[in-house]
Amino acid sequence: MTTSVMRTLRNYIGGEWVDASPSDCLEITNPATVEPLARVPLSTRRDVDQAVAAARAAFPAWRAVPPVVRARHLFQLKQVLEQHFDEVSHIITRENGKTLDEARGSLRRGIENVEHACGIPTLMMGRTLEDIAAGIDCEYVHQPLGVFAAVTPFNFPAMVPMWFWPYAIAAGNTFILKPSEQVPLTATRLVEVAQEAGLPPGVLNVVHGGKEAVDALLAHPDVVGISFVGSSAVARHVYEEAAKHGKRVQALGGAKNHIVVLPDADLDRAVTSVTESLFGCAGQRCLAGSVVVTTGNAYAPFRDRLLGAAKNLRLGYGLDAGVTMGPVVSGRHKERVLSYVEAGRRDGAELLLDGRATRVERYPRGHFVGPTVFDGVRPEMTIGREEIFGPVASVTRVADLDEAIDVIGRSSYGNATSIFTTSGRAAREFRYRVGVSMIGVNLGIAAPMAFFPFGGTKGSFFGDLKAHGQDAIEFYTDKKVVMSRW
Ligand code: NAD
Repeated sequence: MTTSVMRTLRNYIGGEWVDASPSDCLEITNPATVEPLARVPLSTRRDVDQAVAAARAAFPAWRAVPPVVRARHLFQLKQVLEQHFDEVSHIITRENGKTLDEARGSLRRGIENVEHACGIPTLMMGRTLEDIAAGIDCEYVHQPLGVFAAVTPFNFPAMVPMWFWPYAIAAGNTFILKPSEQVPLTATRLVEVAQEAGLPPGVLNVVHGGKEAVDALLAHPDVVGISFVGSSAVARHVYEEAAKHGKRVQALGGAKNHIVVLPDADLDRAVTSVTESLFGCAGQRCLAGSVVVTTGNAYAPFRDRLLGAAKNLRLGYGLDAGVTMGPVVSGRHKERVLSYVEAGRRDGAELLLDGRATRVERYPRGHFVGPTVFDGVRPEMTIGREEIFGPVASVTRVADLDEAIDVIGRSSYGNATSIFTTSGRAAREFRYRVGVSMIGVNLGIAAPMAFFPFGGTKGSFFGDLKAHGQDAIEFYTDKKVVMSRW
């Protein structure tokens, strides 16, 4: 296929697919096969203005639709998503590279947000108190606010956008999604599918693009709030710009997650879970473990088991049977990951398993990096501090739980962390003291489900209200308080 006949994606605005205004396009390729898939336009401020105008026009009628009827659209949406489940999962694997099982799991997690948002009549209820003073009653109601937007990353093309728009529209707002320009096909297909759920035009819109489109959303006076997920540097930019323009903002950033293994842990079970955490989705997860902090004599047996498990992973194209780890998302990202391997060597860490030269015979041009393991990583080293976002794991050894908690406390990130132990007391101590927001106890991926809040602390999160859970309702609505005397 040549680029001249390749499909150029369109924006979805006011219920119609429209061409973006003339602008640059990026070519989207399959990271395993490098087959070109489509071209994505880098929309301009004009396109954003058009989408905001459509969303704004749709708001008054949509907010007047009773919550119970809005919920019926979401029930319908859930059904159509189930009908297209396999097809969308395949698109995720083709454009992002994760294995089909991982794609299915992530889409399932996304759909759970639609299921949760179906409860909007209950989730959105306010509260009342009679006689706040003699003969005066007080109540508050949750009201939608207008046009919200989300800007999302490449690593979960379906799930992360679905942390946001189902709640925002269920609550009566209208919405603009700006998906990652690296994986725009999934969002495109999901919105096509969502049309089958009969959402009125303008309620859900998609604008493709990169920085220009994002900055236009951040500055637009008719956008009331922004949900963002991506790297910390961009999260901070989004937080600052959105705040400067008077908007609500929740900005979820990057991560550097530590996994603590105590000597009393069930090491065989721990290693399965930790391997999945380190190398699942080729390490491109904000919840991925990155540094394994072993205490005392857990070190040598755990390191050996981990090496064995890492060597057993089967690298390849995520749609091929038996593959347990796919490529990273792009050639550029592969270069970045490899530069971290080099930095680890330069800083004096010991490279126990080197995935740099790993090839997949059938796909010689794919962006594959084999599982890579460093030993002797210290917190001040580049690979001990910075997010790598690839299948590069570090093992380190400390004296005890106190020192492990200290290592975690020195990180500039605070997204997720896990502990493996059979001691309830140690687990309790860990969860009580550690300054990280999502904690796993004998679980490698501490992923809150749709009905709990999701987000970190420190450099991993900018804002107050987190993604999904009850926080979503708080974020996407105003609490209007009414006091009455008759
Ligand atoms: P990214 O920050 O490069 O891009 C995210 C989004 O921001 C994209 O839609 C992109 O178009 C836009 N963007 C990029 N640069 C911009 C700029 N200068 N100005 C305005 N907008 C810009 O992130 P990515 O590489 O797509 O995703 C990986 C990152 O996302 C990792 O750091 C990962 O930890 C993070 N992430 C975090 C969570 C979480 O829950 N905290 C979840 C998933 C991913």
